Amino acid sequence: MRNYTFLCQQNGGCFGCCGRNLGTTSELKLAIAQNTKEFNAANPQTTEQLLEFRERYHSYNLLHGLCRNLIEKEGQAICPLHPMLNSGKDLREGHCDAAYFCATARLFSSWKEEKQTKFLDFITNKKLDRFDFSKQMESGELVKEFMAGEKI
Ligand code: SF4
Repeated sequence: MRNYTFLCQQNGGCFGCCGRNLGTTSELKLAIAQNTKEFNAANPQTTEQLLEFRERYHSYNLLHGLCRNLIEKEGQAICPLHPMLNSGKDLREGHCDAAYFCATARLFSSWKEEKQTKFLDFITNKKLDRFDFSKQMESGELVKEFMAGEKI
């Protein structure tokens, strides 16, 4: 059985829970580009440097509704503070609500592998970009549509 992180990595990376009232696709592209530029300029290597990068803005200071830490690396939207990128250390603690999972992720984690695969195929067939994917994951729109199809 796959856990929610597998789902969050689809479609170039989900960031639906990394902000509030996310802006339009072009605004979000600008926000990610700006965050990535600041990250590359700071080039944080150590935990202290990553925390320094994190602290350059208050957690409520969002750009077009998006967290200032969300960057793009090798074509994937990532949080450089995530434990998967920091040998298990969660550098998000004290900044955002690291324990939060959207309803879609929670449902996905509870399903058997067969149903998870069906949902992943459903997502692939939708051919959404990462912006619509993120919004529809967080809003529950995607999973609602999938579940409605399952009942037929
Ligand atoms: S700190 Fe990372 S996980 Fe938390 S909201 Fe920002 S980008 Fe998302």
